[in-house]
Amino acid sequence: MDRRKFLKTGVAGATGLMMAPGIKAATPSFKGRTVVISSGNGLRATAQAMELIRNGSDALDAVIAGVNIVEADPDDMSVGYGGLPNEEGVVELDSCCMHGPTHNAGAVAALQGIKYPSRVARLVMERTDHVLLVGQGALRFAKAHGFKEENLLTDKARKAWLRWKEARPDDDWFPPEDVDKDKKGKAALDIPFTYGTITCLGLDLNGNISGVTTTSGLSYKIPGRVGDSPIIGAGLYVDNEVGACGSTGRGEENLKNLTSHLIVEFMRQGMTPQNACMAGLKRVLEKARLMPRLMKKNGHPAFNIQYYAINKAGEFGACSMYGPVRFAVHDGQENHHQQAEYLFEWDKKTR
Ligand code: ASP
Repeated sequence: MDRRKFLKTGVAGATGLMMAPGIKAATPSFKGRTVVISSGNGLRATAQAMELIRNGSDALDAVIAGVNIVEADPDDMSVGYGGLPNEEGVVELDSCCMHGPTHNAGAVAALQGIKYPSRVARLVMERTDHVLLVGQGALRFAKAHGFKEENLLTDKARKAWLRWKEARPDDDWFPPEDVDKDKKGKAALDIPFTYGTITCLGLDLNGNISGVTTTSGLSYKIPGRVGDSPIIGAGLYVDNEVGACGSTGRGEENLKNLTSHLIVEFMRQGMTPQNACMAGLKRVLEKARLMPRLMKKNGHPAFNIQYYAINKAGEFGACSMYGPVRFAVHDGQENHHQQAEYLFEWDKKTR
C-alpha cells in the first residue's frame, strides 16, 4: 500500500470518519452557543465568520473567510496586502490554520507576493502531506494552485519603509531637507511600526472549533525572519475536545513558550479561557525576566503580546501584556469590541 493510501485508510479505519474540512454535517448536533473571537483589528472578520457559521459553515471556512477581509485591506499595515515590509522593502507573510475535527494544520512562512497566505496555509493542510512550507517553496506551491503573484507593497507601506530607512543613522540614506525636525535637529519622522496580526477562532453549529492566524509580521524585519504566527502551538493551537488559542504581538516570546498550546492545555485542566490566557501571559512574563534586554528599567516588559481563547462551551477570554486594548468577539448574540484584561498600562516606549 502506498504511503498516501495508508494515511487515508489508516485514519478512516481508526476513527470511522474521514471528514474533509468544509463538509457540513446534515443536522447540527451542537446545542451550545457559537462564538467567534479575533484580535482588535478583526471586527469585520468576526461578523463575516459568524454569518457563515450561522448558515452552517464549518468553523475553518468561516474564520478563513473572515481574515481574508483583513488580508485584502490595504489600510491594515500588519496583515497581508498593505502590510509593512521587511528591511529590504519586501512584504513577507506568515500564516497558519488548524482544523479541530481532523486535528490537521497547515502553514506558510516568509511567503512573498500572495495576498491570501491563510488560503495557501489551508491548501498546505489539505493538499500536501506537510504542515509548513516556507519562502520560495511556498510561493511555487501557491502558484501551482493558481494564486496570482502580485506586488503587496502599497505606496503607503513603501513610504513608511522609506522613512524608517532614512531615519537610521550611519548609512547613506537621508530624509528630505525640508522634513520637520525635533528640538535636537533630528528629523521627526512619523514611522509606523507593527507587531500586529489577525487571529480568528470559531466554534460552529456542530460544536467544532477551528482557527487561523495571519500576519506580515514584525515590520522592517530581517528577510527570512519568521515569527510565531505560522507556528502551530505558538501563533495558534486548536484541540477540538477543549478549545483554541491564538496570539498577536511579539512572536519571539511566544515561540519560546509555545503559549497557545500551553493555554489550551490550561483549559484542558479546567481553567476558563480568560484565566488560561492570563496564566499563559504570566508564564511569558516570568520567562522574559530571565533576559534583561527584554525588560525596561522600571521592571516592566519591553514588548507587548496578546492571547485570545475560546472553549468548547463557547466561553471566551483575552489578555494583553499592555492595555487598555480591545479584541473583537461575536458572542452569538452581538458582534462587538470588548476590553482585554491586561497586566501593565501602556507607555510610549512599548511597541
Ligand atoms: N506575532 C507576529 C510576529 O511576531 C506579529 C504581531 O502579532 O504583532 O510576527
